[in-house]
Amino acid sequence: MQIQENISLKKLNSFQCEAKASYFVIVQTKEALIEAIEWANAKGITFLIIGGGSNILFTQDVSGLVIKMEIKGIHKSNETSSAVFLTVGAGENWHHFVQYTIQKSWGGLENLSLIPGTVGAAPIQNIGAYGVEIKDCIDTVYAYEVISKKLIELDNAACQFDYRNSIFKKEKNKYIIYAVQFKLQKQPHLNISYGAIREQLYKQHITNPNLENVSQAVVAIRREKLPDPSLLGNAGSFFKNPMITKAQYVELLTNYPNIVAYPISDDSYKIAAGWLIEAAGWKGKKIGPIGSYDKQALVIVNYGNGTGKEVYNYSESIIQSVQEKFGVQLEREVNVY
Ligand code: FAD
Ligand code: NAP
Repeated sequence: MQIQENISLKKLNSFQCEAKASYFVIVQTKEALIEAIEWANAKGITFLIIGGGSNILFTQDVSGLVIKMEIKGIHKSNETSSAVFLTVGAGENWHHFVQYTIQKSWGGLENLSLIPGTVGAAPIQNIGAYGVEIKDCIDTVYAYEVISKKLIELDNAACQFDYRNSIFKKEKNKYIIYAVQFKLQKQPHLNISYGAIREQLYKQHITNPNLENVSQAVVAIRREKLPDPSLLGNAGSFFKNPMITKAQYVELLTNYPNIVAYPISDDSYKIAAGWLIEAAGWKGKKIGPIGSYDKQALVIVNYGNGTGKEVYNYSESIIQSVQEKFGVQLEREVNVY
């Protein structure tokens, strides 16, 4: 185990904000992961796992040990007449893994193409896009339970998946994920319920899409609409879409007939946070080096050498402004440290 000291995390987070880790280590096996956690515990310091750093905002230096997850490997662990089970190391790149499944013609992950980050981080916030959530394809999560010092398996129900949430996000640093077992379809059921995908397929004159067509449509939409973190610092959607009651929705609709919202149940609605932020006047607005992206207001971007504190303060101003205008509380999706 090679522990390094006083390491810059600027290139290891997609916001590209400067922060120093007092200690830093890369782990490529589960044994090395356990050794690193035990090392931090013995030293009496905290530890923080990072994958691709695409859902993290560093507002200060990290005084403990940063553990970069690089456990690799994809293998077929089981197969039935309708499904294939793949066990994948937490440090595999998410999009590369999705592309691998598409080449094999196994369905389920195509709508989640081009999401940055690692396989091990995917269950943390139950990544989702274009009507699909990763919970629909997760069979088992393999984790190191920090308190009991045991390697454990969590089935889908034990992960307590919810909208951009899971037991791993609710109880941070209790379980460290070292592998995930996915269950994919041999006869794919495509989900093209989101208008953007249907429009993209229509533009390409594709009437009978396959897995690859859907994946490529998603990639094209995302390249068009979202900033590439290697060129412009960001962590995707900064806030979750708020859920409100039907009564609140009806009241908002009276004052704002163009509001973008989707029914979730008989009594709840999901409002597009991007619409609220745009309608509150933030789209494209810059304060120093920080701004709300001009093609999608939900994405906060770092145009230069902005600090994590500046990003945080900008997000705080958006929260206050949306609360004042609409009476709706925005919640951050990005993990703030
Ligand atoms: P990191 O940012 O490194 O970590 C995120 C959190 O998970 C941290 O709290 C970290 O401590 C913890 N963590 C990471 N790995 C582990 C592990 N192995 N065990 C335990 N804890 C761990 N998200 C979506 O849901 N849908 C999208 O469509 C989407 N689009 C995006 C587009 C862009 C341009 C960007 C920049 C981000 C987007 N995201 C999206 C957010 C992000 O890509 C995902 O949340 C992704 O899963 C984060 O992976 P990561 O490896 O970068 O995690
Ligand atoms: P969009 O298509 O402009 O839609 C705006 C919002 O409306 C989305 O947040 C989406 O909710 C919701 N929506 C749209 N069509 C819907 C439908 N048919 N049924 C239910 N809800 C619908 O959104 P976008 O910003 O371009 O993003 C496209 C997809 O990629 C979304 O699913 C989004 O979540 C995902 N994405 C996520 C991140 C991230 O960092 N988390 C970043 C970029 C994109 P949902 O968000 O609940 O799907």
